[in-house]
Amino acid sequence: IAAPKEFERDIYFERCLPVEVLAKRGPKTLVFGPLKPVGLIDPRTGKQPYAVVQLRREDASSSMFNLVGFQTNLAWGEQKRVFRLIPGLEQAEFSRFGVMHRNSFVNSPRVLAKNYQLREFPGVYIAGQLAGVEGYLESTGSGLVAALDLWGSLTGRVVELPPETLLGAMAAYVSRQNSDFQPMNANFGLLPPIAENLPKMQRRQKYSERSRKKLLLLARNLTL
Ligand SMILES: Cc1cc2nc3c(=O)[nH]c(=O)nc-3n(C[C@H](O)[C@H](O)[C@H](O)COP(=O)(O)OP(=O)(O)OC[C@H]3O[C@@H](n4cnc5c(N)ncnc54)[C@H](O)[C@@H]3O)c2cc1C
Repeated sequence: IAAPKEFERDIYFERCLPVEVLAKRGPKTLVFGPLKPVGLIDPRTGKQPYAVVQLRREDASSSMFNLVGFQTNLAWGEQKRVFRLIPGLEQAEFSRFGVMHRNSFVNSPRVLAKNYQLREFPGVYIAGQLAGVEGYLESTGSGLVAALDLWGSLTGRVVELPPETLLGAMAAYVSRQNSDFQPMNANFGLLPPIAENLPKMQRRQKYSERSRKKLLLLARNLTL
């Protein structure tokens, strides 16, 4: 494993761990992570394989693929050796090795007010990964929240996504006081809990219905 440089701290984002860190947690951890085979049936056997690797095409002629979810800090020689152990990849040539990516973000609870607006410079917004949201949906959504806020301030409306919606909850999370702030994916734990004690799927359904109602209300108020 390539050692982190002096200025790097090896604090990993839990949802995007290097494969070697996952593998160290237990012999089956990867099978519940990037190698998860659920829902994939091998047409040759009719059975679900023990583990799968997703290959994402990198070029039009299908000569290059990347290994999806294989964030890694393994030294390059080790990547060759270890990844060639995967059945089917014994002869693989490596055109680019995996490297760790750094997640840059500001100290949002300190610098951001509501709707991703800078406390000290109202009218200036930071959205996306820099604001401490993690993921495609979250980053795009935070941009939408910031844009709606700007639109509201230009047209004399108050546009605030309710905390019962995930985008509203994310916006609230990043600007709430937090001495150990770390980036966050959208998740149900960010939402104000519902009182009823329901099984997981039904609880999520309730969260979703509550969110839709709040959004409809907001939309209605905005079009008045
Ligand atoms: C390897 C990897 C895999 C990932 N997989 C997933 C996944 O499966 N699902 C998921 O939800 N999320 C995933 N993520 C996270 C996701 O990519 C980020 O959360 C998201 O892309 C952040 O969006 P963003 O718009 O804030 O930033 P970015 O997508 O990083 O966009 C920033 C843009 O700004 C440009 N830029 C930077 N500096 C300048 C400058 N000075 N001038 C002009 N332009 C500039 C950059 O080139 C870039 O295009 C992954 C991230 C990585 C690194």
